[in-house]
Amino acid sequence: MKPALHELAKLAKERQSENKKYFDKLKKHPPRDLDYQMQELHEREFKKTDCLQCANCCKTTGPLFTSADIERIAKHFRQKPQQFIDHYLRIDEDNDYVLKSVPCTFLDAENYCTIYEVRPKACREYPHTDRTKFYQIASLTLQNVSICPAAFNIVEEMKKRIPMK
Ligand code: SF4
Ligand code: SF4
Repeated sequence: MKPALHELAKLAKERQSENKKYFDKLKKHPPRDLDYQMQELHEREFKKTDCLQCANCCKTTGPLFTSADIERIAKHFRQKPQQFIDHYLRIDEDNDYVLKSVPCTFLDAENYCTIYEVRPKACREYPHTDRTKFYQIASLTLQNVSICPAAFNIVEEMKKRIPMK
């Protein structure tokens, strides 16, 4: 069962210290089959997840845009990359291109992404719970569990399935 969106930040905060300790241990002793297990946990959770009922990632946090993303999306709009940047993006504190504002400009009223076919790589991969060497993105995941109910559940299930002593 997914946590309700309005409770997610509070629940994630309550688990923060436990999750941090878990990922610290996981980093030191990652099981050999971690990639395989994460793939399975991710697929199982997303089979029962309807992102169109949620869109919390698109509403509350934006992706970073790589140069390849900018070129591809600008081309889709028949714009020059710099025109696209001027119109939609700003540079954040890590020197990455991000949206000028959230909710994302490209999200429509029914939670559909209006640039779905050409959306940024970070959107395609969010919440990154099936990436290899998952322990390497511990701090990002600690943030994502407060945004994405599917990521929250995956981490909860992961702690049960891959216990760390
Ligand atoms: S926050 Fe997670 S569950 Fe919600 S739309 Fe984004 S990826 Fe899907
Ligand atoms: S580009 Fe599309 S998938 Fe990415 S945040 Fe915006 S609406 Fe969501």
